[in-house]
Amino acid sequence: MEAAAAPVGALAEKSAAGVAWDLSAFFSRPDDPAIERALQQVAAQAEAFAARYRGTINAPGGATAGHLLTALQEAEALQEEMVKISAYASLLFAADTSQEAHRTLMQRVEEHMTALRNQLLFFDLEWLDVPEEHARGLIDDPVLAPYRHYLSSERRFKPHTLSEPEERLMNDKDLTGINAWRRFFTEFNAAQRFKVQTNGQTRELNQSEVLTLLRDPDRGVRQAAFESFYSTLESQGQVLAFVYDTRFQDHLVTNRLRKYDDPMAPRHLANEIDAGAVQTMMDVVERNYPLAHRYFALKAGLLGLPKLELYDQYAPLLSVKERVTFGEAREVILRALGRFAPAFADIAQQFFEARWIDADPRNGKRGGAFCAGVSPSAHPYILCNYTDDLRDVMTVAHELGHGIHFYLSRKQTLFNYYMSLPVAETASVFAEMLVFEELLAGLSDPHKRLALIASKLEDSFATLFRQTVLTRFEQLVYAARAKGRLSGAQIGALWLQANAPYYGDVVSLTRGYEWGWSYISHFINTPFYCYAYSFGELLVLALYGKYRREGASFVPRYTALLESGGSLSPAEQLALVGVDIHDAGFWQVGFDELQRLMEEAERLATATRAQAAPQA
Ligand SMILES: [Zn+2]
Repeated sequence: MEAAAAPVGALAEKSAAGVAWDLSAFFSRPDDPAIERALQQVAAQAEAFAARYRGTINAPGGATAGHLLTALQEAEALQEEMVKISAYASLLFAADTSQEAHRTLMQRVEEHMTALRNQLLFFDLEWLDVPEEHARGLIDDPVLAPYRHYLSSERRFKPHTLSEPEERLMNDKDLTGINAWRRFFTEFNAAQRFKVQTNGQTRELNQSEVLTLLRDPDRGVRQAAFESFYSTLESQGQVLAFVYDTRFQDHLVTNRLRKYDDPMAPRHLANEIDAGAVQTMMDVVERNYPLAHRYFALKAGLLGLPKLELYDQYAPLLSVKERVTFGEAREVILRALGRFAPAFADIAQQFFEARWIDADPRNGKRGGAFCAGVSPSAHPYILCNYTDDLRDVMTVAHELGHGIHFYLSRKQTLFNYYMSLPVAETASVFAEMLVFEELLAGLSDPHKRLALIASKLEDSFATLFRQTVLTRFEQLVYAARAKGRLSGAQIGALWLQANAPYYGDVVSLTRGYEWGWSYISHFINTPFYCYAYSFGELLVLALYGKYRREGASFVPRYTALLESGGSLSPAEQLALVGVDIHDAGFWQVGFDELQRLMEEAERLATATRAQAAPQA
């Protein structure tokens, strides 16, 4: 739910100056004596809870449904109070990390919460220990219907969980095993420096700085950045290949011990998505590669190139950046949401008027953007760093989408409040889509329209196509690793193999790209995480297509989806809007939306052809 870090400080414009949130609904100030009283009260409640319920959830003969229901309700009430104190401390800290009082409170609350969580841990563990047959009976009991999804999803890892001493052993050995490799990779990556020569000057850049240059309007700069980036990775190739090969092997060994039959299986289980739905989605994505080829050919024409190199992929089509004030962003977002449903604009309006948004890019404030849902009995808060860039409008729209979602989910109780991962980005990306259409409708200049559509298409491609490529690469690499150790050259060959269908013969796989896998941290940190990005993006495009076809009748069903919070599995939630995630036809609707944008881009390109090729 986080956006990438935006520049804070010197670059910042002032249109969002003074736009700060009001946290007085929680406490009045960091040393408010009410905080201490609240902490004491929660500690006493937790103690009473443990005294009452310890040993009764997995009791001999089994707990009754009524007993479990009361326990769940009390646990939720207790955690609501904990969440509010934590939220106050962390929001205060995020808004100004430089204040000693904020750091002290944050630290104090964190310690308290860890102690409380440990005290309440028995509850989850006892539930996991309930024998399967009895647990099944409780999950299906009508008395516990509101907690059916919560209770069953809590137990979903049970068949893959080892005995307690084995789990402890795994944890201990992971400290110097995979966790150490992760830390090593992070540190190694952060320390890498890339020498780039521009305008006769050599600069030493870090990873994000050199990657930013791949979006430079000057082709020479992009090429220099590309060559420096990949040749530097290649020079570290032996170390990087060793780290990745070890990670692949660790995942395979862990899966064998935990009895997973496929390298993707643990991720599917975490996402509550079955393999069939993911396969269907990815097949549809791959069938649509010709759309990417068509776009790359168009872009080559616009840039006046016979064929794109990989470093031309993200070349900008406009050299001047659009500026949008915070006030203008608010207007356009409310208009876009209001056009979808007046109720959505009303909710968003409250964020601005009741000061639930902190947008001022102050020093000391943390970077990036997020929406904190807090809990059903509180309201959400949004943090962003608004610098008057057009991209910031999309960031605010994105976080407001989360905000509206949390606001609507407040009908659920705490344990049913948070959506699961594959659908967690639905409301945010959908809101971006609405605002994108609104911005486009307000533009008449064909160059600006073309640039806006191109950036939308490129963002969608990066999420949809590229993340599917990354997933196919992981499938290839795990199948190969099962047969034995992999060298950097072997991993590189599999990487190019996975990329080839996406770029086709329209984009050259520029030399050096065979090291393209070797800086992607998802492969090290969370195997097979990437398909969730494709899934989420295509889901929203397809929902948006459904909305355009069905019009107003889509709105109440979409609202019901958001209101369901985390009370259902992703497949059940999407059924609320009439979607079957196993149906390839549904996924294709998402591409029909991109197709529509593609056609508009081609029309605009023809219209602007005379003045095209903005770069030398
Ligand atoms: Zn998000």
